[in-house]
Amino acid sequence: MAKKDEWLGDVQLDADADEGEGEDDGQDWGDWNADQEEEGDDLDSNILCLFCCSIFNSSSALFHHCRSIHYFDFRAITKTLALDFYASFKLINYVRSQVAENICWSCRHTCQSKQDLQNHLHETFSLEDTIFPWADDKYLKPFMQEDPLLYSFGEYYESEDEDTTAKIAVSSHGKSKDKHWEICSAKAAVTNEIKNVNKNYFGSYSSFAIHREMISDKVRTDAYRQAILNNPSLLHGAAVLDVGCGTGILSLFAAQAGASSVIAVEASEKMASVATEIAKNNGLLWSGSPNNRISQCTGVIRVVQGMVEELDNSIDIQPHSIDVLLSEWMGYCLLYESMLSSVLFVRDRWLKPGGAIIPDTATMFVAGFGRGGTSIPFWENVYGFNMSCIGKELVEDAAGVPFVDVVDSQDIVTNTVVLQSFDLLKMIPDEMDFSSRIELEPQLDNPTNCTRDSFSKTTWCYGVVLWFETGFTSRFCKEMPIVLSTSPYAPKTHWSQTILTFKEPIAIASALAKLDFDRLAAVGTESCPAVKIHSRISIARAASQHRCIDISLEIAVIGPDGLKRSWPAQIFNLA
Ligand code: SAH
Repeated sequence: MAKKDEWLGDVQLDADADEGEGEDDGQDWGDWNADQEEEGDDLDSNILCLFCCSIFNSSSALFHHCRSIHYFDFRAITKTLALDFYASFKLINYVRSQVAENICWSCRHTCQSKQDLQNHLHETFSLEDTIFPWADDKYLKPFMQEDPLLYSFGEYYESEDEDTTAKIAVSSHGKSKDKHWEICSAKAAVTNEIKNVNKNYFGSYSSFAIHREMISDKVRTDAYRQAILNNPSLLHGAAVLDVGCGTGILSLFAAQAGASSVIAVEASEKMASVATEIAKNNGLLWSGSPNNRISQCTGVIRVVQGMVEELDNSIDIQPHSIDVLLSEWMGYCLLYESMLSSVLFVRDRWLKPGGAIIPDTATMFVAGFGRGGTSIPFWENVYGFNMSCIGKELVEDAAGVPFVDVVDSQDIVTNTVVLQSFDLLKMIPDEMDFSSRIELEPQLDNPTNCTRDSFSKTTWCYGVVLWFETGFTSRFCKEMPIVLSTSPYAPKTHWSQTILTFKEPIAIASALAKLDFDRLAAVGTESCPAVKIHSRISIARAASQHRCIDISLEIAVIGPDGLKRSWPAQIFNLA
C-alpha cells in the first residue's frame, strides 16, 4: 500500500509521551527497574496494571499502557459513557474483580488463564451490551486493598481534555440519567467513528496519485509481478481473489499468468470503477452474468465494489473455493492501517484448504540508528552557518513522534534483529498486537558513526528504526520465491522505514573495544558507553482509531561492568 498522504496529512505528529515505567513478571524482564542513576521508585506509587503484572508510577502511564496493550481506553470509556467519579471508581474495581476470575470485563467471556485473557482482550465496540455491570454499589468497595490507582486516577480523570468521542456522545449537560440513551449515543459515536475512519481511508484511495506512487515503486510492484508471473504452478488455472485491487494491477498480472478467474475487490467506489474500465480496456474483464452459464466470457477478472468483509452482499462465492489469495496490504511499519485483518478474514472464509496466500510471510526488523539518522547533520551546516540548535530541538521533540523516512544503512549503529514474524497462513488477527523483547549490540563498522575516537569505537545511538519484509516463499512460489524488503540495506521503497527516537541519545561501544570507562558515570553516557541495548517494543492497534497503531518503546542499557540503566516507556502513535 502507498503513502496515504491525503488521509494522513503529515505522517503522525501527535504521540503521547508516556512517563511511566513498566515491569512484568517475565524472568528476563524482572530486573528492568530504574537503576541507581534514575530516581528510585516510590513504592507507594507503584500502581499495578489492571490486566497484567506491569507496574507504573502514575495512573496516566498505566492508562496509556492499558489503552495500547490491553484495548482498555479508560478515558474514552469514562468520557463516552459520561461516568462520574464514583462510576469510574466502580469501573476500576469491577475490572479488577473480573480479571481476577479471568473474565473479559467487556464481553464477559471466561478465559482459561490470565494469559488467555490478555490474548482475548479486544476493542470495546459494543458498549451497549455491557449495560453497566459495574453500576452495582458493591464495586465501591476496593477490590484490591490499598489500591493506589483508586487514589490517583481522579487526577487523570479530571485533567484529561475533552476528546472528540465525548463531545459526540455525551448529552449537552453531560450528566444524563438516561443510561440507555447514553449507551445508544456511545454506540452511535463509535460506529460513526469507524465509518468516518473507513470513509476517509477509502476516500484517500480515490486519488490516482497514490496508485501511481505504489505502481511506480518498482521494488514493490516487481516483487508481486515476478511472484505471480514466474510461478506458473501457482497461478495457472487458479481461482484468485485480490483483496483491495486498487487499479487492478495484481489482478491483471494474475490474469496474465493464466488464472481461471480473478475476483478483484475494492472498497473505493472510484477505484472499483476505474479497475473495471482498465480490465475491460485490456480485454480481461469477465462480462458474463453469474447466473448465465452461456456467458460471453471475454476475460477472467470480475471487479466487485465494496469492503471485502461485506462481499457476501454483492457476489456469491462458495466458502473455501479460492486457490490463491492475493493482496498488497502492508502499511507503514507493516501494520499501520490494519488491512491485514481483511486478508485474514478472506483467508478464513474463502481460501481452499491448502490454498495459497501471496505473500505468505511478513517479518518486522529493528536496529539502532546514529546521528546521521537524525536531522542534526543537516542543521549543522546551512550555507556555512551553524543552525544546530534547530536539529537539537527537533531530536528532542521526536521522542513521541514516529517518523516515516528513509534511513541510510550507513547510519545504522547496531546489529539488526527480528522483532516479530507472521505466518499469514496460520496467524490469528489478535497476533497483530504483540510485545517483543530484543537485544541490540553495537556494530560500528562505519567509522563515520564514531564521534569520539575510532580506537574505542564509541558512538551515539539516537533511537531505533523499524522495517519489514514480506516473503513469497517456496511454500507457494515453488519456481521462484521472492522477498520484498523495505530494509535500509535494500533499495528504497515508498514505505521507507519507521523511526522511533529515544528521549536522549545513548552512547554505545562494542564490548570488544578496550574501554576506559568511568565506573561512576551513568551507563549510556560518553564516559560509560553501553555495550548492549535491551528493549521491549509493543505494537497494538489503537483503541480509538482502529486503523492506527500505538507503539510502546521501553529501553534499558547494559554497561561494560554489567550495570543497567533504564528509561521510562515512550509511546508513539502512528495515526
Ligand atoms: N492492489 C493494489 C492496491 C493496493 S492499496 C496495488 O497493489 O496497487 C490497498 C487497496 O485496498 C486500496 O485501494 C484500498 O481502498 C483497498 N482496501 C483496503 N481495505 C479494503 C477492504 N477491507 N475491502 C476492500 N478493499 C480494501
